[in-house]
Amino acid sequence: CRILALETSCDETSAAVVEDGRRILSNVVSSQMDTHKRFGGVVPEVASRKHVETITRIMEASLEEAGVQLKDLSAVAVTQGPGLVGSLLVGVVAAKALALSHGLPFIGVHHIAGHIYANRLSGELHFPLIALVVSGGHTEIIHMEADGSFRRLGQTRDDAVGEAYDKVARALSLPYPGGPHVDRLALEADGEIPMPRAWLEPDSYDFSFSGLKSAVLNALNQAAMRKETLDPAHVAKGFQQSVIDVLTVKALRAVKETGAEQLVVAGGVAANRGLRTSLEEACSREGIRLAIPPLALCTDNAAMIAAAAYLKWERKSFTALDMKADPMLSLEDWAKA
Ligand code: ATP
Ligand code: MG
Ligand code: FE
Repeated sequence: CRILALETSCDETSAAVVEDGRRILSNVVSSQMDTHKRFGGVVPEVASRKHVETITRIMEASLEEAGVQLKDLSAVAVTQGPGLVGSLLVGVVAAKALALSHGLPFIGVHHIAGHIYANRLSGELHFPLIALVVSGGHTEIIHMEADGSFRRLGQTRDDAVGEAYDKVARALSLPYPGGPHVDRLALEADGEIPMPRAWLEPDSYDFSFSGLKSAVLNALNQAAMRKETLDPAHVAKGFQQSVIDVLTVKALRAVKETGAEQLVVAGGVAANRGLRTSLEEACSREGIRLAIPPLALCTDNAAMIAAAAYLKWERKSFTALDMKADPMLSLEDWAKA
């Protein structure tokens, strides 16, 4: 089975060919980072235009790199949502056109299922498992009893962790997207400004990062009023340590309480070196099997969409061509469909 997948949910235009949901034949990613950098964030209107300009070239490149022709494909998959509607639409229209014109089965994919199944491109999944989803728009703990079953145990009540990273980076005058810069500063830091941790109710798997973000902004503002400057590395370290502590403790508690076989990490913030180290240490101490995708598979890419599409392929659960891009698509609903 060879699935060609497209991903255009945000500011990455990507196309990939994946064999049997596991083997990457190609995974071409074109980032619009440089375009959005000067605005300090993704501009939706600009993003969808860029996708239109790039998608055909990226699709052709992914087939060429895979050494595969359209007639060798088993299905065409695309991110249905969540994401920016104008961006999603570009991928959805392109994928539908391809499926229709070549008589190929069509599969709409939930973006977060993609982030989770990125782990199957670099190793095996062992069910039941706990998925810690940490990305630009999501922070969730998901319990998976079996392949394709998703039960959300908790989620952020305000900012997503990637969003908090980007806002803190902005306050520190670091370039967009700020996550990797905050990560680097935190690792280089020779000191730390302690920041609060939002544990919420003792039994809760929810998260909250807006208080932490405000604490960082307050510390910076108060220092400015005293005509002092804080070492940005110390600020970054305090912020990152708070994030890492809460994510690590809650994820491990979820593994233990549900008796999961494995902890898998998903989403752009899974690229965070501080988080990776913290989870590696905690899991090895507790004897928990841990999976984190290699860096290139943590952030948005189409190979992960093809990996999740394979779930539906195995069940012959294809998507009708009148499917709509859905910026608010729910993971549970997608899995059931
Ligand atoms: P979603 O997947 O929720 O729809 P998204 O697709 O925009 O959102 P991803 O591509 O999964 O998000 O991740 C992007 C986020 O990851 C950005 O907020 C970015 O700052 C963050 N990020 C990337 N690398 C790192 C890192 N090393 N440390 C912390 N954050 C990082
Ligand atoms: Mg992105
Ligand atoms: Fe994403």
